[in-house]
Amino acid sequence: MPAQIIDGFSVAAKLRRTLAERTAAYRQANQRVPGLAVVLVGEDPASQVYVRNKGKATVEVGMRSFEHLLDAKISQNELLQLIDKLNADPKVHGILVQLPLPRHIETERVLRAIDPDKDVDGFHPINAGRLLTGQRGLVPCTPRGCMRLLQEVTNTLSGLHAVVLGRSNIVGKPIAQLLLQADCTVTMAHSKTRDLPALCRQADILVAAVGRAEFVRGDWVKSDAIVIDVGINRINGADGKSRLCGDVATAEAAERARAITPVPRGVGPMTIACLLENTLIAFERRQALPE
Ligand code: NDP
Repeated sequence: MPAQIIDGFSVAAKLRRTLAERTAAYRQANQRVPGLAVVLVGEDPASQVYVRNKGKATVEVGMRSFEHLLDAKISQNELLQLIDKLNADPKVHGILVQLPLPRHIETERVLRAIDPDKDVDGFHPINAGRLLTGQRGLVPCTPRGCMRLLQEVTNTLSGLHAVVLGRSNIVGKPIAQLLLQADCTVTMAHSKTRDLPALCRQADILVAAVGRAEFVRGDWVKSDAIVIDVGINRINGADGKSRLCGDVATAEAAERARAITPVPRGVGPMTIACLLENTLIAFERRQALPE
């Protein structure tokens, strides 16, 4: 049987519609709406596109978008002052600093300056610690999106063996934590792991977050496995035109998998939708606090 193609584009659109409805209900009830501040330093073209898309998606669901486009030469202190201001601003419920930052700015220092309760990227060490210890926090968007896509295939992950390829702080590690919370048995793999194909063949759930085009081949996939392909890579096709592909050789893997996410239109669209969801969560938690 051909694999189910998990349509992240539709799942993300459905989530955005729900977020728009919930935002409209708050607007009607008390004139308050979630606000997301996005900070971009410099003029990296890819980052400009990401920031524009995030701003557009924010407005489309009825939330407020605050864009701060800063000169590449801004000092670290000036950037930290802006973060302080956003931390204190009651109209701002989520703060996102677009990465990468210019080399003269310490990324860790900036990310740590964000109020953890407004840290909608979920990168603050406090949120990483909360995730690790099972406390309520804000969870990184891409991992959150991957878990939602898994829900499209099965209601229970309990007892399944999940293999996560990649151990970055923003993708691999948080996905592994979420899978553990969902009662999977989790194995994390990385560049020093021995015999990756054999390990992957044991996976009921295979998550690829490596950053290497079509790295996972079809014969690495256990029959009936669920494959989540986080990778976004640009390669030249046989026709000389560039195209996007994931970390998994999708067509080969689809011959064995039970379900698989495509690239594009798989995990990618979930990331922005989950960013908006995190903004709504941060807003709701703020509303629940005494004035
Ligand atoms: P990183 O480069 O930070 O991490 C890559 C990981 O893959 C590392 O842990 C590395 O191991 C591991 N790795 C690299 N080569 C191999 C190998 N030959 N065998 C086994 N493991 C290997 O990448 P990210 O986690 O940031 O991103 C991963 C992919 O996901 C990228 O393609 C990125 O574009 C994509 N991405 C997609 C998003 C989306 O919205 N869909 C969002 C974020 C990322 P080691 O630690 O040993 O070096």
